[in-house]
Formats: sequence, structure tokens, C-alpha cells
Amino acid sequence: SLTIGVLALQGAFLEHIHMLKNLPTVSDAIPVRTEEQLKSIDALIIPGGESTSMALIAERCGLLEPLREFVKNKPTWGTCAGMIMLANEATSAKKGGQQLIGGLAIRVNRNQFGTQKESFETKLHMPEVVGETPFHAIFIRAPVISDILSEDVKILGRLEQKVGQTEAETIIAVRQGHLFATAFHPELTYDNRLHSYFVDLALTYYSN
Ligand code: GLN
Repeated sequence: SLTIGVLALQGAFLEHIHMLKNLPTVSDAIPVRTEEQLKSIDALIIPGGESTSMALIAERCGLLEPLREFVKNKPTWGTCAGMIMLANEATSAKKGGQQLIGGLAIRVNRNQFGTQKESFETKLHMPEVVGETPFHAIFIRAPVISDILSEDVKILGRLEQKVGQTEAETIIAVRQGHLFATAFHPELTYDNRLHSYFVDLALTYYSN
């Protein structure tokens, strides 16, 4: 079984750790704040939070380069701000750039749903990930995937209805080999099917 780390610089990392601790296939779930901890884990979750703050802290801690190395060949799942960090490109209404970890060939649009509809909940149908029962997803100032930049990226979920100005069919979950990304917060529900999916992805990756 695996040791899974959750990047714990900022954001909703504790909730992910609680979810992981309830999975039988996870031997340990630890918060990751140092390069040494990063070296000790088999797979990583980058949580939601605020991607600009997370990037600044990662840079200041000297973790940005080690994270870039990690995601090249270790299973990693980014949720919300974590998805932004994993993206190769991010667009934002705000001026100025931000550092990303990158690795996942997508372009994301930050804060897609704007300030009026900062958060909402919706049912998502993601049969390849969670089977036929829809997943209750919580979106908080969420990004969306505006562009897929490689044929290796597989679309796993889309919004089923129009939300504010955002069209139905907008992409909100993808996978590229060992990298997985979701625009919402699966750690804030009691449904651990996405966490199971990620752990299975990692187990399969290491058994091949
Ligand atoms: N709006 C945040 C960002 O742009 C993401 C929000 C979240 O992770 N819930 O980084």
C-alpha cells in the first residue's frame, strides 16, 4: 500500500488527509512541507486554496523545482487551486503572472464563475471515475479547463448545466497518465470515491 502526501503550504489539506486515512489501500497520509517529505511519498495531492499564495509559498520554501521534478513521474492529483498549479498555462482576470508547477497539458481559466457565483454545488456524471452514481461536487471560486493542449489528456468530467455565464459541457476533470485534476473540492463531501480513484490510479501505476 502507498504513502500519499498532501501539499500543506496553504488551503484545504487537512480534509484531504482525513479522506485518505479512511482508505484501506493507503498506509499513511502525510502533510508535505519539505523536499524531504516529498521524497518520502508515492503520490501527491495538491489541494484547493489560493494558487497565487500557494505558488509564492512554494517558491519561498524552495519547493517549486522539487515539485516540478516530482510530477514528472509520480502520480499527482490537483483539486481546484491544485489543478491550477498543475496546469501548463493559466489565464486570469488579474494582471501579472503566477508561477505554476505545470506538467499537465491544459490551460485553465481561474475564477471562471466570477465573484457573484463564487460557489455552487452540482451533480456530475463521471462514469469512468465513479461509476453510474453522480458525484456531488462543490465548486468554490473554481477554475475551469478552457483548453486541452495534448492528445494525452483525457476528459473525465464536464458541467452538466449552464452555471451563470459558464456553459454546460465545460470541462472540469481530466487525466493525463499519472496526473489527475478536478476543478472542484471532493474533500469537502463525505464521498471518497474520487480519493479511491486516485489511489487506484497510483497503485496501478506502480504495479506496471
Ligand atoms: N480561486 C482560487 C485560485 O485561483 C482557487 C479556489 C479554490 O481552490 N477553491 O487559486
